[in-house]
Amino acid sequence: MSSNKSVKMSEEEINKALAKAEKEAEKKDHKRIWIEKMMKSAKTYYKVCPYYDKKTSKCFLDLANKCTREGRYDNCPVFMKFLEDKYQELTAKKKILPLDFLDLAQTV
Ligand code: SF4
Repeated sequence: MSSNKSVKMSEEEINKALAKAEKEAEKKDHKRIWIEKMMKSAKTYYKVCPYYDKKTSKCFLDLANKCTREGRYDNCPVFMKFLEDKYQELTAKKKILPLDFLDLAQTV
């Protein structure tokens, strides 16, 4: 009896853990999809990274370091981190996530 109960408990635990993992995966997926959308939107406006200062090679998102990519922001870790942070910040504040990069850029 007691061993049955413990099996049942662990099944429940497994289900709980699975549900939690699914939720986490959903969240991650939502984040990934939004980041991809923002990247796509940014590309329709900017050929070169909007945070790149051509004259000084400075990166406005990371003033401590210079941009080593000449403003090529596709897959740039600094740019991706910026989008990730924005996602966290906006979802934590329960704000609506913009669908257009320019709307997001205004919130910087
Ligand atoms: S490091 Fe990335 S975010 Fe910064 S200016 Fe260069 S491409 Fe843009």
